[in-house]
Amino acid sequence: MDAADLEGDLVNILFTEEDIQRRLAEMARQIEQDYEGEDLLIVGVLRGAVMVMADMARSFNRHLEMDWMAVSSYGSGTKSSGVVRILKDLDTDISGRHVLIVDEIIDTGLTLSWLTANLASRNAASVEICTLLRKPEALTMQVDVKYVGWDIPNEFVVGYGLDYNERYRNLRDIGTLAPHVYS
Ligand code: 5GP
Ligand code: MG
Ligand code: MG
Repeated sequence: MDAADLEGDLVNILFTEEDIQRRLAEMARQIEQDYEGEDLLIVGVLRGAVMVMADMARSFNRHLEMDWMAVSSYGSGTKSSGVVRILKDLDTDISGRHVLIVDEIIDTGLTLSWLTANLASRNAASVEICTLLRKPEALTMQVDVKYVGWDIPNEFVVGYGLDYNERYRNLRDIGTLAPHVYS
Protein backbone atom coordinates (compact mmCIF):
# COMPACT_ATOMS: atom_id res chain seq x y z
CA MET A 1 0.00 0.00 0.00
CA ASP A 2 1.62 3.28 -1.07
CA ALA A 3 0.80 6.82 0.05
CA ALA A 4 -1.55 7.42 -2.88
CA ASP A 5 -3.59 4.33 -1.95
CA LEU A 6 -3.83 5.51 1.64
CA GLU A 7 -5.18 8.98 0.80
CA GLY A 8 -7.27 7.32 -1.93
CA ASP A 9 -9.29 5.47 0.72
CA LEU A 10 -10.74 8.82 1.83
CA VAL A 11 -13.98 9.54 -0.01
CA ASN A 12 -14.47 13.01 1.43
CA ILE A 13 -11.84 15.26 3.02
CA LEU A 14 -13.31 17.40 5.80
CA PHE A 15 -10.12 19.12 6.96
CA THR A 16 -6.78 19.40 5.23
CA GLU A 17 -3.42 19.55 6.96
CA GLU A 18 -3.45 23.35 6.44
CA ASP A 19 -6.94 23.73 7.96
CA ILE A 20 -5.86 21.72 10.99
CA GLN A 21 -2.61 23.62 11.59
CA ARG A 22 -4.36 26.99 11.28
CA ARG A 23 -7.11 26.02 13.72
CA LEU A 24 -4.67 24.53 16.25
CA ALA A 25 -2.63 27.73 16.22
CA GLU A 26 -5.78 29.80 16.86
CA MET A 27 -6.73 27.55 19.74
CA ALA A 28 -3.21 27.78 21.19
CA ARG A 29 -3.42 31.62 21.16
CA GLN A 30 -6.72 31.45 23.07
CA ILE A 31 -5.33 28.98 25.60
CA GLU A 32 -2.21 31.12 26.10
CA GLN A 33 -4.46 34.06 26.96
CA ASP A 34 -6.70 32.08 29.29
CA TYR A 35 -3.82 30.52 31.22
CA GLU A 36 -1.58 33.58 31.30
CA GLY A 37 0.56 33.55 34.44
CA GLU A 38 -0.60 30.03 35.38
CA ASP A 39 1.36 26.82 35.19
CA LEU A 40 -0.14 24.46 32.63
CA LEU A 41 -0.09 20.69 32.20
CA ILE A 42 -1.55 19.35 28.98
CA VAL A 43 -2.66 15.73 29.08
CA GLY A 44 -2.95 13.85 25.81
CA VAL A 45 -5.33 10.93 25.54
CA LEU A 46 -3.54 8.10 23.76
CA ARG A 47 -3.50 7.10 21.05
CA GLY A 48 -5.75 9.38 19.02
CA ALA A 49 -4.48 12.68 20.44
CA VAL A 50 -0.82 12.11 19.53
CA MET A 51 -0.94 14.33 16.43
CA VAL A 52 -2.98 17.09 18.09
CA MET A 53 -0.65 17.11 21.09
CA ALA A 54 2.51 17.21 18.97
CA ASP A 55 1.31 20.01 16.71
CA MET A 56 -0.55 22.05 19.31
CA ALA A 57 2.28 21.88 21.84
CA ARG A 58 4.63 23.30 19.20
CA SER A 59 2.16 26.13 18.51
CA PHE A 60 2.52 27.38 22.08
CA ASN A 61 4.91 30.18 22.84
CA ARG A 62 5.03 29.53 26.59
CA HIS A 63 6.20 26.91 29.05
CA LEU A 64 4.04 23.89 29.61
CA GLU A 65 4.35 20.28 30.66
CA MET A 66 3.00 17.29 28.78
CA ASP A 67 1.75 13.99 30.13
CA TRP A 68 -0.27 11.13 28.69
CA MET A 69 -3.08 8.83 29.62
CA ALA A 70 -4.42 5.83 27.80
CA VAL A 71 -8.02 4.86 28.31
CA SER A 72 -10.14 2.41 26.42
CA SER A 73 -13.75 3.13 25.61
CA TYR A 74 -14.06 1.85 22.09
CA GLY A 75 -13.61 -1.63 20.66
CA SER A 76 -11.78 -2.19 17.42
CA GLY A 77 -14.71 -1.10 15.24
CA THR A 78 -16.78 2.05 15.11
CA LYS A 79 -19.07 1.51 18.12
CA SER A 80 -18.58 2.53 21.75
CA SER A 81 -18.25 -0.32 24.22
CA GLY A 82 -19.63 1.94 26.97
CA VAL A 83 -16.82 0.95 29.32
CA VAL A 84 -13.91 3.22 30.30
CA ARG A 85 -10.74 1.66 31.63
CA ILE A 86 -7.34 3.24 32.45
CA LEU A 87 -4.65 1.48 30.43
CA LYS A 88 -1.90 3.97 31.29
CA ASP A 89 -2.16 6.51 34.07
CA LEU A 90 -0.45 9.90 34.43
CA ASP A 91 3.14 10.01 35.67
CA THR A 92 2.42 13.44 37.16
CA ASP A 93 0.89 14.34 40.52
CA ILE A 94 -1.75 16.83 39.42
CA SER A 95 -2.90 18.12 42.80
CA GLY A 96 -2.96 21.91 42.63
CA ARG A 97 -2.14 21.89 38.90
CA HIS A 98 -4.06 23.39 36.00
CA VAL A 99 -4.81 20.45 33.72
CA LEU A 100 -5.95 20.70 30.11
CA ILE A 101 -7.05 17.39 28.60
CA VAL A 102 -6.28 17.28 24.88
CA ASP A 103 -8.21 14.90 22.67
CA GLU A 104 -8.86 14.54 18.97
CA ILE A 105 -12.61 13.88 19.05
CA ILE A 106 -15.54 13.84 21.42
CA ASP A 107 -18.41 11.66 20.27
CA THR A 108 -20.78 10.43 22.98
CA GLY A 109 -18.73 12.28 25.59
CA LEU A 110 -18.50 9.17 27.71
CA THR A 111 -14.71 9.01 27.73
CA LEU A 112 -14.06 12.65 28.49
CA SER A 113 -16.79 13.09 31.11
CA TRP A 114 -15.39 10.09 32.93
CA LEU A 115 -11.81 11.32 32.55
CA THR A 116 -12.64 14.86 33.70
CA ALA A 117 -14.28 13.55 36.86
CA ASN A 118 -11.39 11.17 37.46
CA LEU A 119 -8.75 13.92 37.19
CA ALA A 120 -10.82 16.43 39.19
CA SER A 121 -10.98 13.90 42.05
CA ARG A 122 -7.18 14.12 42.30
CA ASN A 123 -7.52 17.71 43.54
CA ALA A 124 -6.33 19.45 40.40
CA ALA A 125 -6.65 23.24 40.53
CA SER A 126 -8.66 23.02 37.31
CA VAL A 127 -9.51 20.45 34.66
CA GLU A 128 -10.63 21.59 31.22
CA ILE A 129 -11.05 19.90 27.86
CA CYS A 130 -9.65 20.79 24.46
CA THR A 131 -10.75 18.72 21.49
CA LEU A 132 -10.08 19.15 17.81
CA LEU A 133 -13.44 17.68 16.77
CA ARG A 134 -16.84 17.32 18.39
CA LYS A 135 -19.89 15.45 17.15
CA PRO A 136 -23.41 16.73 17.79
CA GLU A 137 -24.20 13.70 19.94
CA ALA A 138 -21.71 14.98 22.51
CA LEU A 139 -24.08 17.86 23.16
CA THR A 140 -26.63 15.48 24.71
CA MET A 141 -24.14 14.44 27.38
CA GLN A 142 -23.13 16.83 30.15
CA VAL A 143 -19.53 17.61 29.22
CA ASP A 144 -18.16 21.12 29.36
CA VAL A 145 -15.66 21.41 26.55
CA LYS A 146 -13.73 24.65 26.79
CA TYR A 147 -11.94 24.49 23.43
CA VAL A 148 -13.35 22.94 20.25
CA GLY A 149 -11.70 22.99 16.84
CA TRP A 150 -14.80 22.13 14.82
CA ASP A 151 -18.23 20.60 15.28
CA ILE A 152 -18.73 17.90 12.67
CA PRO A 153 -21.68 15.83 11.39
CA ASN A 154 -22.35 12.43 12.89
CA GLU A 155 -20.06 10.48 10.55
CA PHE A 156 -17.12 8.22 11.27
CA VAL A 157 -13.93 10.08 10.40
CA VAL A 158 -10.30 9.00 10.16
CA GLY A 159 -6.87 10.54 9.80
CA TYR A 160 -4.66 12.80 11.90
CA GLY A 161 -4.66 10.34 14.81
CA LEU A 162 -8.14 8.96 14.22
CA ASP A 163 -8.15 5.27 13.31
CA TYR A 164 -10.29 2.61 11.78
CA ASN A 165 -9.04 -0.73 13.13
CA GLU A 166 -5.75 1.03 14.04
CA ARG A 167 -5.16 2.18 10.46
CA TYR A 168 -5.32 5.67 8.94
CA ARG A 169 -3.94 7.46 12.01
CA ASN A 170 -0.96 8.58 9.93
CA LEU A 171 -3.02 10.46 7.34
CA ARG A 172 -2.31 14.20 7.36
CA ASP A 173 -5.92 15.12 6.52
CA ILE A 174 -9.19 14.18 8.19
CA GLY A 175 -11.97 12.60 6.15
CA THR A 176 -14.48 9.83 5.75
CA LEU A 177 -13.64 6.40 4.37
CA ALA A 178 -14.82 5.00 1.08
CA PRO A 179 -17.46 2.26 1.55
CA HIS A 180 -15.17 -0.42 0.05
CA VAL A 181 -12.88 -0.11 3.10
CA TYR A 182 -15.63 -1.38 5.41
CA SER A 183 -16.55 -4.37 3.30
P1 5GP B 1 -16.70 9.06 23.18
O1 5GP B 1 -16.42 8.46 24.51
O2 5GP B 1 -16.73 10.56 23.20
O3 5GP B 1 -17.94 8.49 22.56
O4 5GP B 1 -15.58 8.56 22.20
C1 5GP B 1 -14.32 9.06 22.23
C2 5GP B 1 -13.39 8.19 21.41
O5 5GP B 1 -14.09 7.41 20.43
C3 5GP B 1 -12.41 9.01 20.61
O6 5GP B 1 -11.29 9.37 21.37
C4 5GP B 1 -12.11 8.10 19.45
O7 5GP B 1 -11.10 7.19 19.81
C5 5GP B 1 -13.39 7.33 19.22
N1 5GP B 1 -14.20 7.94 18.16
C6 5GP B 1 -15.36 8.60 18.28
N2 5GP B 1 -15.82 9.04 17.09
C7 5GP B 1 -14.90 8.65 16.18
C8 5GP B 1 -14.78 8.83 14.76
O8 5GP B 1 -15.60 9.43 14.05
N3 5GP B 1 -13.67 8.29 14.18
C9 5GP B 1 -12.72 7.61 14.87
N4 5GP B 1 -11.68 7.13 14.19
N5 5GP B 1 -12.79 7.44 16.22
C10 5GP B 1 -13.87 7.96 16.86
MG1 MG C 1 -9.22 10.21 21.74
MG1 MG D 1 -10.05 4.35 17.75
